[in-house]
Amino acid sequence: MTASQLTLFNSLTRSLEPFTPGDGVTARVYSCGPTVYNFAHLGNLRAYVFTDTLRRTLAWKGYPVRHVINITDVGHLTSDADAGEDKMELAAAGLGKDIWEVAAFYTAAFKRNLADLNILDPSLWSVATDHIADMIAFAEKIAPAHCYEIESGLYFDVKTVPDYGLLARAVSDEGESRIDPVSGKRNPQDFAIWRKSPPGEQRQMEWDSPWGRGAPGWHLECSVMSLKYLGPEPFDIHTGGIDHREIHHPNEIAQNQAYCGCTTEQPGFTGARFWMHNNFLVDRGGKMSKSAGGFTTLQSLIDAGVHPLAYRLLCLSAHYRSELEFSADAVAAALTRLKRLVMTVGKLGVEDGDADPAYLACLDAALSDDLNTPMALVALDELLADKRLSPADRRATIAAFDTTLGLRLRDIARGELRIAPAEAALAPEAIEAQLDERQQARAAKDFARSDAIRDALIAAGVDVMDGDPLRWEWRVTLR
Ligand code: AMP
Ligand code: ZN
Repeated sequence: MTASQLTLFNSLTRSLEPFTPGDGVTARVYSCGPTVYNFAHLGNLRAYVFTDTLRRTLAWKGYPVRHVINITDVGHLTSDADAGEDKMELAAAGLGKDIWEVAAFYTAAFKRNLADLNILDPSLWSVATDHIADMIAFAEKIAPAHCYEIESGLYFDVKTVPDYGLLARAVSDEGESRIDPVSGKRNPQDFAIWRKSPPGEQRQMEWDSPWGRGAPGWHLECSVMSLKYLGPEPFDIHTGGIDHREIHHPNEIAQNQAYCGCTTEQPGFTGARFWMHNNFLVDRGGKMSKSAGGFTTLQSLIDAGVHPLAYRLLCLSAHYRSELEFSADAVAAALTRLKRLVMTVGKLGVEDGDADPAYLACLDAALSDDLNTPMALVALDELLADKRLSPADRRATIAAFDTTLGLRLRDIARGELRIAPAEAALAPEAIEAQLDERQQARAAKDFARSDAIRDALIAAGVDVMDGDPLRWEWRVTLR
């Protein structure tokens, strides 16, 4: 197989660049993790399907991967600017629960989501509140040359580092200050390093610091934990959703520059060599917002009878830098496509022959081209349809697609894909029995009977697909 050069889109330069690990061996990757005040919505999960694809691709290219994902359990405010309340405190108060319980509950739910999506565990989960002392030490180091104290806390002066906001390209005075500006800031883009607890108020999460009792600003944790576990030399790749390109990552870069002693004469250093961003999953129905309260979780799809890997397939069917539109139809189509793939692979038997070098090269070329998963899926379709290869050889080649795309096509059982919807009034066996009866009625040309059965099933929330070539006779109705 001829291997292609891996190229990745670097948001810093807004261009495709060849990638090899900085140390020539291990790829070191940091991914901004979830704020655990609620369930992750499907959009959040797209970000981790992307990092998983990146990680699997790096491993495919022969690089051991050291991957860190953080868990934000403190500091993230209801706006990315330093205004509003701490999301965690707010959620705990709303639920009448202890904030640590809330964090533990949603952290576990998030990890379950990743497992359902066959996303590999990172080498390290790094929890923000386990690193408060590190954050204070980091802040103490950068404070003299880069920070100033005002009533509400310690702030970072963005004019003290080179090219603040280069990653975002367009820095406007609006971004940070639009909503409820903090009084006393020198520049609108200045951001909190440490937020003092307001006098007379006690937070559930607060710590003593040289700047008073309070909590770290949200951006601090990612600089501290990424440099601690992957630095201090620039590590390889920092990932996040495209929203982070505007505020969170420019602020991280500013902190990293300050920490590593960059002056305005030394631009260039950002802490990571590549900054990569996935585009959004968009929902024209407006459900995809965790903070707005209305959102679609992975569990809600599973409850509707959709296997979580169908959502993974939906994500892979678009390039990570393109917007992906979410709809019930798109999910249903992905589920049908997944079933078709699983059924086709199932027909190849259980024997493994030899992987086909031409298809491996196609897969390699697609992934090496900035993780072009839609192209990899085309190669997969072609492979499955290629009768010139023996079934055993096709099956052996699919192993490489499973390793990189994570769809479990070789080991998932057809029955696993048929999830009984939580709300279905009928048990799967009862549905099967009804469908058998309906088939007999149709065979006997008793269409009145067949229609009556179908109507009863539809009333019970089961969508009957006539003429389904896969003979996957039923699915749930997605609403
Ligand atoms: P959060 O828990 O809000 O910190 O977000 C976790 C990750 O999801 C971050 O990398 C965000 O950039 C990303 N993200 C948020 N909304 C979406 C969306 N609709 N589509 C894709 N990624 C998103
Ligand atoms: Zn982050």
